[in-house]
This record gives sequence, C-alpha cells and structure tokens, in this order.
Amino acid sequence: MSELASRLKLILQRINEISSSTNSLVRLIAISKTKPVEDIIELYHAGQRYFGENYVEELETKSNHKLIRSECPDIRWHYVGHLQRKKVPRIITRVPNLDCIQTVDSIDLANRLNLILKKQSQKLNILIQINTSNEKQKYGIEPKQFLSLYEYIRNNCPLLICQGLMTIGSLNNVQSENDQDFQVLTVCRKDLCEKYNYKLNEIELSMGMSHDYERAIQAGSTMVRVGSSIFGAR
Ligand SMILES: *Cc1c(COP(=O)(O)O)cnc(C)c1O
Repeated sequence: MSELASRLKLILQRINEISSSTNSLVRLIAISKTKPVEDIIELYHAGQRYFGENYVEELETKSNHKLIRSECPDIRWHYVGHLQRKKVPRIITRVPNLDCIQTVDSIDLANRLNLILKKQSQKLNILIQINTSNEKQKYGIEPKQFLSLYEYIRNNCPLLICQGLMTIGSLNNVQSENDQDFQVLTVCRKDLCEKYNYKLNEIELSMGMSHDYERAIQAGSTMVRVGSSIFGAR
C-alpha cells in the first residue's frame, strides 16, 4: 500500500473507533488544497470520494483535470474556503461534481447562489458557516444571527439544500485542547433542531481538522476536514 493510502487508512480507523463509541456517522472530507491531482487520484483509488478545496480557481482546475475526469467519475467536491460573491457563477457553472459549499455566511451570498443555480436549473447542498471563535478576521456568521440566516434561506432560496453547520474554530483552541468552539456549534445545532423540530442526526456538523478531528467527533462532528495528516505538510 502507498504511503498516502496507509495514512488515509489510519485516519479512517481512528474516525471509526471514536465514532462507534459516540454512536455517530462521520464522513471524511480529504482537504487536497495545494496538493497535486496525482495524490487525489491515488486516494480515490484507495476508496476516498469526498475532497475539499479552499480556492475557487484551484477547485476549477482540479475538478476539470483530464485525469480526474477520466479516473474519478464519482468524486465529490466540497468547497471550504471563503466565497466571494463575484466568484459564484464560476464555481456553479465550471466545477463538475460539486457536492457542497460549506461556507455560506450571508443573505447576500445565499441570494446570489440561488439566482445562479436557477439559471442552471440546479440544486446544491450547502452548510452555514458560523464564526464560533468570535475572531474579527474569521469569516462566518455570528452564532446569534445564524437562525435568521437559516430561516431566510429556508423561505427564499429553494435551490439551496442546507444540510447543517460548519465552523473552523480558533487555533488557540487547537493548541490548548479546548473544545469551546465545537461546543458553540453543537449548541447552535440544538437550537436549530428545537426551533424546527428536526432530529439532531438530520443536521450535519462540519468541524475538526488534522489536529483536532478526534476531539471534534467526541463533541458531535459528523464531517471532519482533514488535510495535512493525510497528504503531508503543505
Ligand atoms: C486547510 C483546511 C482544512 C484542513 O486543515 P489541516 O490542518 O491540513 O487538516 C480544513 N478546513 C478548512 C476550511 C481548511 O481551509
């Protein structure tokens, strides 16, 4: 087995161990930013289907690459970077196998996405990104405001399928093994489920990266975004 494939296997085993003890289903998104398509193809052949990128241009290039198109027909792309309004047409019309935009954080962006999707007669999965660490430089909507954004999308953006919530969290929390940001996202989900009478397991929580995905799963994550622990340092 290649080094990449064995690192993937290791992460999947850890995810499996922890999620079986918390009785949850957890999906791995392999974050392939800055890494070559050869690596993506290798992991695809090892069974990985979900990949994530954080720049629109890079996602466009990789998703249209000849080898990706021919060897990875069932690949599913997640966009995890900040999305500028002006790049919405590009990501919607030029990225084959786009599965989800995880970073919707404003009414303006939601409206723009819905409009372009309408022209394409297409629907798209999204997550609402929440700024759980309250840092000014971080994108994401404030925890206090996310319910009104959810309500807006639900009533006005029928082509957006909101599957759940996403957060990045602060680096301090990663280093200090503090899972406060994960708890904030978990509380947001609880509030959402109470308001709309959803079951907790109907709402995805995308949280956890290479250095904290294990704690994130313990806190309730259903989607972990792991880059460097699989692909190596960037
Ligand atoms: C880069 C990135 C990741 C993966 O980070 P690693 O520490 O390499 O696992 C996860 N989520 C987002 C939004 C990212 O930009």
